[in-house]
Amino acid sequence: MKWFKEDLYGAAITQWLGVDKLIYKGRSKYQNILLFENNSLGRVLALDGIVQTTEKDEFIYHEMIVHVPMFSHPDPKKVLIIGGGDGGAAEEVLKHPSVESVVMVDIDGKVIELAKKYLRKICRRAFEDNRLTLIVDDGVKYVNNTDERFDVIIVDSPDPIGPGKVLFTKKFYQSLYNILNKRGIISRQTGSTFFQGNELPQAYRIFKQVFPLNSVYVAAIPTYIGGFFSFVLSGKGIKSWPNLSVLKRRFSKAGIKTDYYTPDVHKASFVLPPYIQRRLS
Ligand code: SAM
Repeated sequence: MKWFKEDLYGAAITQWLGVDKLIYKGRSKYQNILLFENNSLGRVLALDGIVQTTEKDEFIYHEMIVHVPMFSHPDPKKVLIIGGGDGGAAEEVLKHPSVESVVMVDIDGKVIELAKKYLRKICRRAFEDNRLTLIVDDGVKYVNNTDERFDVIIVDSPDPIGPGKVLFTKKFYQSLYNILNKRGIISRQTGSTFFQGNELPQAYRIFKQVFPLNSVYVAAIPTYIGGFFSFVLSGKGIKSWPNLSVLKRRFSKAGIKTDYYTPDVHKASFVLPPYIQRRLS
């Protein structure tokens, strides 16, 4: 068997994943793209040598980056996804009956084409949902030019390398703030709390300069090695996050089947161990 070696971004750490069957290997206009079968993880997508998503554990990441902001909002109708070319985030957003429209802006049409063809267990029918508008463009360009306003924005980007780098700047978050409705909420991934130590505090510092309410939450995602993987939830025009009973009411009303997310997991994911809290102070 051949092996895929992931040199983890920002860390002297490597993980090897067996390539039981190569599905696609190539370079788009923006990044190296690798898609392969692994007997333990199912299909694996890697961009510029970094694991983006796997069929086996994608549900953890996509449920947590989507349902935490969606259930934190009282009535999310209009949603924007930046990145998310594998379609996993869009698939989760579209499960919410309140959603009237989702705009998904990914810079790389090739990732979307491959997801439609080979990652149906992740995107399912998301790309065929008539509420979805798919735009192949740089997320920065879109947010600087759109007249649309959104209730929830999900930044499902890769790490701050390659084309994803621009999605980590203060200017970008100021632009996101400007296109949020008054009770708007944003979520974004901010890397491994253990091995990509700077990604979270740097992003959190920027968020605090732009948004009045910012909170970090975590989930353990097996193929994003290093224990807790982090996310930041930011709010505009809101003073505090909904309590557990409100989350439970919204979750039960939405009637969404999940494998990781529950209102209790939602609340618990914001309880941070001291080593993470210290990074944020
Ligand atoms: N779940 C992954 C993670 O946590 O690293 C990210 C998933 S998704 C595959 C990342 C997507 O971001 C890719 O499809 C890539 O094409 C897209 N992307 C990278 N830079 C972008 C940019 N500047 N604007 C829009 N999409 C971008």
